[in-house]
Amino acid sequence: MSEKISLYDTAGIDSLRRELALDPHQLHRLRTAFWKKSAGAEAAIAELPAMAQATVADRVEFHPLTLDVRLDSQEDGATKLVFVTKNNQRIESVLLRAGTGRTALCISSQVGCAANCDFCATGKMGFHANLTTGEILDQVVQANEQIRGEDRSVRNIVLMGMGEPFHNEATVYEVIDTLISGRGFNHPASRILISTVGIPEAMLRCGRRYPSVNIAISLHSVRQEVREQIIPLARKYPLGELRRTIVELNSIQPSTVMVEYLMLASVNDSLEDAAELAEFLDGLRVHVNLIPYNAIEGAPHLTGSSREVRDAFANSLKSAGLTTTIRYSMGADIEAACGQLVQKLERQRKQVSSSRTS
Ligand code: SAH
Repeated sequence: MSEKISLYDTAGIDSLRRELALDPHQLHRLRTAFWKKSAGAEAAIAELPAMAQATVADRVEFHPLTLDVRLDSQEDGATKLVFVTKNNQRIESVLLRAGTGRTALCISSQVGCAANCDFCATGKMGFHANLTTGEILDQVVQANEQIRGEDRSVRNIVLMGMGEPFHNEATVYEVIDTLISGRGFNHPASRILISTVGIPEAMLRCGRRYPSVNIAISLHSVRQEVREQIIPLARKYPLGELRRTIVELNSIQPSTVMVEYLMLASVNDSLEDAAELAEFLDGLRVHVNLIPYNAIEGAPHLTGSSREVRDAFANSLKSAGLTTTIRYSMGADIEAACGQLVQKLERQRKQVSSSRTS
């Protein structure tokens, strides 16, 4: 039998449509049911004329990813989904159910990451592959299918999972195009956020192309030498250039730029650091999000700042007039630090296969 056609293969699906003599609007009904209503493949196929249903069920692949593990936090509203790609690589998405009833989904853009930040579990894996448009979008589809029974749906989509979104830039734009299109997911651009290690030219391209999509920059320090120590790419993109990029984004975008700041004990968490951060951000339209550090394997030299230090740091920024929040960390019991669970599963898998061969 010939290989299945991915739902995300536009040309392939169009030629199947012609072969089955379907109208474009009939295909549109299938996509609406599948993407906007999260109805599942069966219900989406049922939208088609009866004579086309069996062929579409047989020939179209609706899910580029296979769900491997679902882990629900016993402490809060976080659910981790681990997926396997066709190349047998694992990636993670995290569902975050806020007390307000709103649901956010954190998705991955790559398998592993080339940025190799000192504090990041995904970085420790190295770079393995870029995810395809279908693999990124399927995280949204499958997450919605998981929570359909709870009367919830994904409200905010954050590209803050595994990978550096701007290292997979063209694909990420295809993803956004499909998400925001009325013929796609019809998802508001203002409820999409891209988090980046800080790649100036890509941030500007993104801001120009999608003024309403939110951009977050992982700043983590405004001392060049400290930033270089924890983020190797900082050497390539110095702080002055990042600041100019935020100025420019502020002139393009209606929304504020989110500044992420990981709180690492004795690295970047003194009150002096706070004062320098406030000075760096003076005059910019930003929202500072302080992130408690999730300890990872492979970084024994790093520890997170204590709650008292985080609160004092936040208060110092607030009194300097900066909008500041401390990220409420969810899912600590399900290995919330991005990439942590995948690393562990991969290790278990390797152990199992090596014990089989020995
Ligand atoms: N590459 C992008 C998106 C992935 S990381 C970026 O750098 O922004 C998403 C966020 O999680 C970043 O702000 C990153 O600095 C943070 N992060 C990475 N490792 C972490 C850890 N161990 N604990 C807490 N936050 C972490």
